[in-house]
Amino acid sequence: MASYIDSEKSQASEKSQESIDLFDMAEQYPFSDVHFWRDPETQLQAIIAIHSTKLGPAIGGCRIIDYPSTYAAVKDACCLAAGMSYKTAINKLPFGGGKAVILKPKHLTDRKALFASFGRFVESLNGRYITAMDSGTTIADMDVIASQTDHVMCTTTAGLASGDPSPHTAKGVYYGIKAAVKFKLQRDSLTGLHIAIQGVGNVGYALAKLLHHDGAKLTAADPNMQATQRLVAEFGADIVTGDDLYAVDCDVFSPCALGQVINPNTIARLNTSIIAGSANNQLQSLDLAATLAAKNILYAPDYVINSGGVLQISYLNKPDVVQHKLAALYDTLLAIFRQAEQQNRSTVDVANALAEQILMEPLSGDEYEHK
Ligand code: NAD
Repeated sequence: MASYIDSEKSQASEKSQESIDLFDMAEQYPFSDVHFWRDPETQLQAIIAIHSTKLGPAIGGCRIIDYPSTYAAVKDACCLAAGMSYKTAINKLPFGGGKAVILKPKHLTDRKALFASFGRFVESLNGRYITAMDSGTTIADMDVIASQTDHVMCTTTAGLASGDPSPHTAKGVYYGIKAAVKFKLQRDSLTGLHIAIQGVGNVGYALAKLLHHDGAKLTAADPNMQATQRLVAEFGADIVTGDDLYAVDCDVFSPCALGQVINPNTIARLNTSIIAGSANNQLQSLDLAATLAAKNILYAPDYVINSGGVLQISYLNKPDVVQHKLAALYDTLLAIFRQAEQQNRSTVDVANALAEQILMEPLSGDEYEHK
């Protein structure tokens, strides 16, 4: 008779994992709580990481991607959750930071069932975490989640029906690029500047449209041929494959695909004076912010420049306020760049200090930027 737990397998697996300790990991990737959900009937294996609820319920998207291991998924969730806390803090929003990841099944049989189960997972946290779209998830997925819980954004009609945040994120990145160009190149216009975009999915495409409208020359890379062909047809972009984008001689390198793309290998290849894009956790490690500064490359901290989506969600039904807040990212980033230069610190150092000040001493209710 098969035993309840295959002890041989269990011991082998324990041994291979024994160097991984969640609480040790928290020294580097801090979290408040991490929740796991397993539902074999729907193939769901999901993790929700909450970094902080000091300023309000934790918000953050849900991504469904391939992870090489559960450890990688937990680490990703924790890093992203922390980024959300910093993002809401620096924008003085009454939300904390959280993030959900779903380990993508190899052959998903019923997407709706999987996201309904994920909705029950979110509901089990009683509003402590509010979910949203992220890499690999769609508005349709958010609608399925909304059949199980109200704690979901980016739906068409249910929950917090804010729709796709990507155009707002792209607009914020556009203002961030303008601020970086003003600071670094002393230019108000993007006309004639060369911008390399890594990833032309939802955000990258919307960003390319804004930059093209302003007369920028675009080069892009994306493994999705349809996405790159659209950029060629609509904006006359040049396309390069894969890692060749890092070496492109450009004014702005804009990572809009994956995290951790700025690392010692890629920094050695970069041929730009500005890095400004939407991807979360762009730096492989935070000390690289100082490396970039030493190389005279201006880095726009990711969680500041990509906060357009969360700003839209926070000011639902107030489109004028959203537009004003997006435009204000220009001033926020310019102030960070100036302070970094004056104090000889990295831009990440300056942004983190501003966010941590708010996280450590929560503002009184009246001081919050309000919905
Ligand atoms: P998306 O999935 O729509 O687009 C990502 C694109 O990157 C895809 O077209 C994909 O093919 C491409 N890609 C994957 N690997 C690549 C590689 N190695 N080189 C070049 N391209 C590659 O995602 P999105 O919504 O556009 O988000 C892009 C990034 O911005 C993600 O890191 C996301 O976490 C971050 N972000 C998005 C939002 C938002 O509102 N959507 C908000 C904040 C942050």
